[in-house]
Amino acid sequence: MRHLTLASALLTSMAVTTPAVADGHLKIVDEPLELTIHMHHKRYPAYNEDWPVEQEARRLTNIHLKNATIGSNTDNSGEAINLLLASGKLPDIIGTSRIKDVVNQYGPQGAFMPLNDLIDEHAPHLKAFFEKRPDIKSAISAADGNMYYIPYLPDGKYGRAYFIRYDWLDKLGLDVPQNVDEVKAVLEAFRDGDPNGNGLKDEVPYFARQWEELIRLVTLWDGRSSGSDTYHDFYVDGGQIRHPYAGEGYREGVKNLTEWYAEGLIDPEVFTRGSSAREYLLSEDLGGMTHDWFASTSGYNRLSSEIEGFVFKAFAPPASISGKRIEEHRRIPIKPDGWAIGGTNKHPVETIKYFDFWFSPEGRNIVNFGVEGVHWTMEDGKAIFTDAILGTGRPVNSQLYELGAQLHARGYFQDYGYEIQWSNEFALEGIALYDEGDYLIDQFLGVAFNKDEQAVYDKYWPSIRTYMLERQQAWILGTGDVEADWDDYMADLDKMGLNDVLAAMQSAYNRQYGG
Ligand code: CA
Repeated sequence: MRHLTLASALLTSMAVTTPAVADGHLKIVDEPLELTIHMHHKRYPAYNEDWPVEQEARRLTNIHLKNATIGSNTDNSGEAINLLLASGKLPDIIGTSRIKDVVNQYGPQGAFMPLNDLIDEHAPHLKAFFEKRPDIKSAISAADGNMYYIPYLPDGKYGRAYFIRYDWLDKLGLDVPQNVDEVKAVLEAFRDGDPNGNGLKDEVPYFARQWEELIRLVTLWDGRSSGSDTYHDFYVDGGQIRHPYAGEGYREGVKNLTEWYAEGLIDPEVFTRGSSAREYLLSEDLGGMTHDWFASTSGYNRLSSEIEGFVFKAFAPPASISGKRIEEHRRIPIKPDGWAIGGTNKHPVETIKYFDFWFSPEGRNIVNFGVEGVHWTMEDGKAIFTDAILGTGRPVNSQLYELGAQLHARGYFQDYGYEIQWSNEFALEGIALYDEGDYLIDQFLGVAFNKDEQAVYDKYWPSIRTYMLERQQAWILGTGDVEADWDDYMADLDKMGLNDVLAAMQSAYNRQYGG
C-alpha cells in the first residue's frame, strides 16, 4: 500500500513536469557539473543545496551548485564578501546583496569575469533582455564598459502612495484633497475637528514611519527629495545631475513644512517615532495621513473590525503649487544585488548558460514561484500559487525564501504576478488609481565611478550629506530660517565641494548613459 501511494505520487509529479523532462531542452551539460557558490544575504547567510528551487534547477539543467559561502556566521553581507575577497580564492559564482560596487571595483582588476561577450555568445534570454532594456545594461556597466554581474531586477512599478482616512474626511464633510492647499485644509480639520470622536485634540494629522517621508512632501512645492528609491539620492534633470537639497523648490517646501510642523499638522515626534509609527498611530485611531507602501499600508484596513468605519486608502498625488501631480517614489527597476562569475571559474560558458536559465520562461517561473505542480500550477498561461503557499496563512515572501525562490542575491527578473496574488483589494484599487493618472517619474539608476571620480566623491560627499541633513532637520524644528539662511547654505555647500561631486557624477553619467 505504501509503495502504491509513493508510486502514484511520483506519477502525478511526473505528469505535471513531463514537458520539460521530455525534450530536455534546458539541460546545459550531459553529465552533472558542480559549481561552487558564495551566497550571502541577511535572510540566508549560505546557499542551501536542499532548497526545492535548487533541486528543480539541478534536475532541469544538470548544474549542481555547491555551497562555498564564507562568513555565514555573520548576517552582514558586506563583512562576508570582505572575508571572501581577503581569502584570495573566489568560488565559481558569487551572489550577495550590494554586489554592484564590489564587482565594479574588483572586476576590472580580474577578480570577476566580464560578462558582455559571454552573454552575446551563450545567453539568448539575457541578451534579449538587455536589448530590450539598454538603460539597465548601462546602469550595471562598470567604468570600463563591461558588465560584471547579473542583478536582481524587481518587477512592478509602484511602491509608495499617499494614504488618508477616508472615514475621517466623511465625518468632517470634506472631499479627498486635490492640491497642496486642500491638503493643508484637511490636515487642519483633522487637528481641530476631533474626527476620532473622543473629545480630545489628540489626532496626529500627518505621520510617517520614515521621517524622510515628511521631506518627501517638498514635491508639493515643486521640490525634490530623491531621484531614486534611496533617500537623499541625486536626480537627473534633463541630462543634468543635481541634488534635491540644493534646489529652489526644496527651499520653498522646507519653508512651508516648517510652518506645518509649528502648527501641529505634522507628528511632533516625526524624527524620533520610527518604524512603529504607522502601527501605533493607526491602531490607536490617531493618525490621519501618510505616504507609505501600497500593499502593507492597505493591510491596515483590517482595523475596521476594531475601529468603527475605519477606511485608510490611497489617494492621487495632490497637485503642487504649479499644478504638477507626481509620485516621486517608485520601485527601482534594478538593484545593486545579484550574482557574478569568479575570475578563476573554469566553466564560464556553462555558468553564463546557467545564469541564462533563470531568465528563460521556465527558470523565471521557478525562481519566482517555486516548483511547478507543488507550489504553483499553470492556469491560462500564468503561474498561480497552490494552497501549499496561499493556504498556510504565513507571509508569502518568507515562504518563498525558504524554498530558495525570490532570492535577491541571485540574478533574476521578478514577476509581479507573484505579489498581485496576495495583494488586498484596497492595494489593487489604489494601484489602479495611480495607473490611471500616470504620476510616476523617471529614476536615476546610479553611476559607476572611475578611480578619480570615486576619490572626489569619497573626499567630499559624506560630510556634505551630513551637513544637508543637519540643516534640514534644524529648519523644520524651527532653528534658523531657511529663507534667511539659504544663500549662506548654498555657499557652504560650494565650499564643501558639492560642485566637484556633481561634476564627478556628471562625467560618470555621461560616459555610462551616453549623455
Ligand atoms: Ca480626538
